[in-house]
Amino acid sequence: MKITPVKAFNDNYIWMIQEGNQVVCVDPGDPTPVLEFIVAQRLMIAQTWITHPHHDHTGGAGAIRRTFMESPVYGAEDIPDATHTGGAGTQIPFGGGLATVWETPGHTAHHLSYLFEHSDGLHVFCGDTLFSAGCGRVFTGTIEQLFDSFSRFNQLPETTLFYPAHEYTAANLRFAAHIEPDNPDIQTALAATEYRTPTLPVTLAHERRVNPFLRVGLQHVWTRVENLCGRKLNSESEVFAELRELKNNWQPPE
Ligand SMILES: [Zn+2]
Repeated sequence: MKITPVKAFNDNYIWMIQEGNQVVCVDPGDPTPVLEFIVAQRLMIAQTWITHPHHDHTGGAGAIRRTFMESPVYGAEDIPDATHTGGAGTQIPFGGGLATVWETPGHTAHHLSYLFEHSDGLHVFCGDTLFSAGCGRVFTGTIEQLFDSFSRFNQLPETTLFYPAHEYTAANLRFAAHIEPDNPDIQTALAATEYRTPTLPVTLAHERRVNPFLRVGLQHVWTRVENLCGRKLNSESEVFAELRELKNNWQPPE
């Protein structure tokens, strides 16, 4: 089993899970680079998994389905091209592995994540829910939903690999360093972004060290967020919400 990112637009990754000549394509926003990859490697797309209805994740789903003999497209009910709309708990076999669908709302109201269990570990295709060192913006979901989705991710084994759909890592780490100026893991990860992209996938263990949205329960993060927003916060979910607000308004120093 091999998992490869295909680049699309400015900073999207379309993840391709390959076993033999069969591929699952996750969030094909643009069909062109996907079909180029498939043709060059002589592969077949067996399934498409969609996390949420933003165009940069869905734009190629119809073309791919038609090109590959009506291959199934999994997604929530808000995905027009989906052929299979089972929600949370749906199980999808592929190759030697099995994906389980989780609802991880927040960025959008019905955002799905695909937890693909394989003999080599757990691989989570989390769309725009979790990014390395950051989280998605709230569009049609709520910040409380996003906090809950993060809490559930945080209960997975620490070797779990996350495959977000965007390369936002460097910018996210700069904000993380603004929240935690004394965290050496953030500095190390930031330095690494200069010479290594994709920066993904990332382990949960790594994210627990550098992602401020997974660190809102730590006293120094909590206090720092209170100081920056100028009021007392009473729960981890309030710290999480204020942190998202601070990120929305933050401009990196020149
Ligand atoms: Zn999105």
